[in-house]
Amino acid sequence: MDCIFCKIAKKEIPANIIYEDDKVLAFHDINPQAPFHILVIPKKHISTLLELTEDDKDLIGHIYLVINKLAKDLGFADRGYRVVVNCKEEAGQTVFHIHFHILAGREMGWPPG
Ligand code: 5GP
Ligand code: ZN
Repeated sequence: MDCIFCKIAKKEIPANIIYEDDKVLAFHDINPQAPFHILVIPKKHISTLLELTEDDKDLIGHIYLVINKLAKDLGFADRGYRVVVNCKEEAGQTVFHIHFHILAGREMGWPPG
């Protein structure tokens, strides 16, 4: 399968990885939109949020706990941060392997564009 995030998960192409365990990987976004812009992905290929199943419930909970850990370890937990998952084209999804954007280190606007 020609999926760029599967290739990053398998270390077939490089990324600036900041966290890894058996289920997930976190790395810096190649085109950061904030002082901190990290992507957290499951190692398992899931194309969009709509493909999640009952079997993925623990995985998604785990991803949010990894995000908590990164927020504390990287020092933006106190100030706050935003977690974004774009689902399909109209929301702006361009890579069809689910990824949780963590954005931090600047004031965020609302509503998002
Ligand atoms: P989306 O638009 O699908 O929500 O987000 C995709 C994100 O992946 C974008 O923020 C983009 O900059 C990032 N991205 C795309 N290709 C690569 C890559 O090869 N390496 C890294 N580190 N980030 C990527
Ligand atoms: Zn994939």
